[in-house]
Parts: sequence; C-alpha cells; structure tokens
Amino acid sequence: MKATLRIERFNVGPDPSRRWQDFAVEAPEGATVLDCLMRIKDEQDPTLTFRRSCRSAICGSCGMNIAGVNRLACYTQVSHLRRGPVKIRPLPGLPVIKDLVVDMDSFMEKYRITEPYIVARTPAPEKEYLQTPEERRKLDEIITCIMCACCSTSCPVSWTDPAYFGPAAFGRAYRFLVDSRDIRGRDHLKPVTGSTDGVWRCHHIANCVDVCPKKIDLPWLINELRKHAL
Ligand code: SF4
Repeated sequence: MKATLRIERFNVGPDPSRRWQDFAVEAPEGATVLDCLMRIKDEQDPTLTFRRSCRSAICGSCGMNIAGVNRLACYTQVSHLRRGPVKIRPLPGLPVIKDLVVDMDSFMEKYRITEPYIVARTPAPEKEYLQTPEERRKLDEIITCIMCACCSTSCPVSWTDPAYFGPAAFGRAYRFLVDSRDIRGRDHLKPVTGSTDGVWRCHHIANCVDVCPKKIDLPWLINELRKHAL
C-alpha cells in the first residue's frame, strides 16, 4: 500500500518557520510509522530528523505525535491509522530542536528531582535484598515505563505550566515509594507532593493513560500518591 506521511518540518537557522511536507512512501502490511520514516530518510530526504533506537517499544526514543495522538512510531502500524495523509508532528509542549526531535532536558530534570534510585538499608545483606512475590507485584506495572514522555507531553496542564512535574515523574516517585527495598518512605515524596507543581495540580484529564504505550494507569497512581501524602 502507498501511504502519505505529512511531516511537520522545523530547522533552526535563518528560516526557523515550521512547514508541512508530504512524502509518498511504500507501506507494506505490517509496516510501522518508524519503518516509513526510515525509508523516507534512506531514499528521499536524508535531512529528515527523528530519534529511534530499539524498534521494539523498549527504548522510548521514538515518541511523537502521530495522527493527533502521542505514540511510539515503532509501535504504530500505518494500516491501523485512518486513510489519508498521516500527520506527524513532534511531541507537543517541548521545544523543538529539529523536525521530530524535541529537547527532553526539562522532562529529564523533573525525573532527576524525584531521585529515581533505591536507597537501601545498611549494612547490606550478604546476598540479595529479598522481596516477597507480593512486594514485587507492586512494581509490575510501573517498571514497564520507558520514559518516552508520551504521557507528560499529552497533558494540557504541562502545556500551560512548564514547571508541572507531569505523570511520568509521578510514576517514578511512586515506583520507589512502593519498592520494599527503599527506606525513604513518604519523605521521598516531598518534591512531588509538597509543591504546587506536584500531584495536587493534576486535573485528571487522563490523556496520559490513553496514550501510554505500556497502558500504565497513571491517574490511579497519582491518586495513590495523594493518599500517601495525606
Ligand atoms: Fe511513556 Fe507510559 Fe512511561 Fe509515560 S508512563 S513515560 S507514556 S511509558
């Protein structure tokens, strides 16, 4: 099947305006948007710029806005989209560096503030820090997060308040709160619960859960953080 990808182009430099550009590309059954972007880059326009790495929905690099929805390009088959030109734009709400590549610094900075690592008890056990199956199960959903930023950049609160932590950072805070090996407990939540840009700012619009490629129930998790804070 032949598909048309309508891609928003942007380049810094003397003419930094955004413009749409159409590319007709062969999209065989099963072809993903990322397959088509790579084909366009190889065969038509080597200047087309986008991030990608694993092609398996694991690295989180190829998040972009496809047909109006934030998704992973490697996880989206062209044949599953509506007929007609497929509009592809960079993730909304973040500064664009070039074409489909956005500046992720502010997103990662919020992640960093949550201190996303385990602080375990000391002295360390002779072997592993053991967990029961029940303790481990609490992590099952949230550890699938691949930091693709699809959720946070789909949130209107993030668009209007650049300091808002956003669902991805809340997910990280929750992940270490419920990890039985971490000794920090609720103190660890202060950055995301004690700030006006934290969990209380969420309006439960729930775009985040609609777009998450891992189907993480972020609104539920934000409510859990609020309960722990209270
Ligand atoms: Fe991506 Fe889902 Fe993680 Fe948000 S919660 S960063 S959408 S994987």
